[in-house]
Amino acid sequence: MSLGIKKGDTAIVITGKEKGKKGRVISVIPSKERVLIEGVNIIKKHMKPSRKYTQGGIIEKEGPIHKSNVMLVCPKCNKPTRISAKFLSDEEKVRVCKKCKEVID
Ligand SMILES: [Zn+2]
Repeated sequence: MSLGIKKGDTAIVITGKEKGKKGRVISVIPSKERVLIEGVNIIKKHMKPSRKYTQGGIIEKEGPIHKSNVMLVCPKCNKPTRISAKFLSDEEKVRVCKKCKEVID
């Protein structure tokens, strides 16, 4: 189980041209260590006409951002934070905000 950012979290970009932008995590790509954040890093994609896009043209969608460029925004203290793990038992662990020490999950 990963203790990183998860789908549905709020994350803020800490570096790059999108720095300071904040949004809901809509997807996590573990294999590439990247996340998609709603409204952040919008890229324009040229689509050829297809069954889904009958007209073709340009669509806008979120581009993936490397995990190291974003931080979780703690839902408890509302600050960008790192996550630490707290073991409830040998098997079970939860995410804890390093700033306010509250359990995030
Ligand atoms: Zn917190």
